[in-house]
Amino acid sequence: MSDFNHFDYMTKHRYEQIVYFYDKTTGLKGITCIHNTTLGPALGGTRLWNYECEDDAILDCLRLARGMTYKAAAAGLNLGGGKTVLIGDADVVKNEGYFRALGRYVQSLNGRYITAEDVNTSTKDMDYVSMETDHVVGLEGKSGNPSPMTSLGAFHGIRAALQYKFGDEDISKYSFAVQGAGQTGYYLIKKLVEMKAKKIYFSEINEKHINRLKKEHPDVICVSPKDIYGLDVDVFSPCALGASLNDETIPQIKAKVIAGTANNVLHDEDIHGNMIKNMDILYAPDFVINAGGLINVYHELKEYNIGRATRDIEKIYDRLLEIFKIADKENINTQLAAKVFAKKRIETINNIQDNYIKR
Ligand code: NAD
Repeated sequence: MSDFNHFDYMTKHRYEQIVYFYDKTTGLKGITCIHNTTLGPALGGTRLWNYECEDDAILDCLRLARGMTYKAAAAGLNLGGGKTVLIGDADVVKNEGYFRALGRYVQSLNGRYITAEDVNTSTKDMDYVSMETDHVVGLEGKSGNPSPMTSLGAFHGIRAALQYKFGDEDISKYSFAVQGAGQTGYYLIKKLVEMKAKKIYFSEINEKHINRLKKEHPDVICVSPKDIYGLDVDVFSPCALGASLNDETIPQIKAKVIAGTANNVLHDEDIHGNMIKNMDILYAPDFVINAGGLINVYHELKEYNIGRATRDIEKIYDRLLEIFKIADKENINTQLAAKVFAKKRIETINNIQDNYIKR
């Protein structure tokens, strides 16, 4: 018997709902978790993964849903946090029936949860989902690929961090080390080149991505993945995988600002958030600086307009400045300050609904 008690965990982190589903025709097997819907319907992508055991799948779903609550709240969106995980082998299970069956379960939640693509699910899969429910975003022909918008948000976040740290956000005065040049890293580097950054280094493990950058931006310098941390630059920009900042890598960092697109960058939020703070490095909290894609997709729920979405993404700049100030005032690390900021918004909106208003 597993000793993971679902209700204890739900109580501790104040979850609203966990839904388990199994479709006997297609073998679809999954979990939808809704963390908090104070601000609006829970939004979070559908991840398909061959989990080793059911508890791993449930914990992943719970953790990711909670992360979405903070991300949406800090981004100023009227959305709550949710997530779906499907248990299965992506090379085997995916087909029309499978995703339409998922769409029917999403529909059964009657708009309390909105899904989108995530690891191992694509816009094509979401097209099938949309045949059974309207509660799906990130569809082909609507808001499109979120990566350029995520990078644009990160760019505004970098400007905010430079302004806060050095009192000057002129990109041409600074040097950058970008870890990962996949989707978001590529678009971020493109923007930094356009803004005439003083010097840009990057690291990659995918030859195709290295060659693309070398061809398009010959002045951008490629370094080995292990050398990227210790470069003598102003900004370290993590745009690859999670947990890249840990006991081993943080002491190598010479940059005075850390700001990029990657999720869950800190191996341990408390320990490594404090470690970075103690080194007098300004860290832009991941779920705030990388919310551009989410903000973009949110606009699909209204009538999508790229101008409005872009303007909303720009607000990441002001939000980060506010969070940096909270961190300084409270003498806490910036990741923690971002959570304080997000929780405060949820609490405020919850409290103003105390009085009855007829609509
Ligand atoms: P991606 O897979 O397109 O790019 C990641 C790149 O990092 C790949 O090219 C990969 O080869 C490279 N990489 C992996 N390990 C590396 C290492 N050790 N050193 C150097 N490079 C390495 O992914 P992406 O969409 O650009 O996402 C990057 C990060 O940003 C992820 O953490 C993702 O969760 C986060 N994020 C992405 C979006 C989005 O809109 N795509 C939105 C929010 C957050």
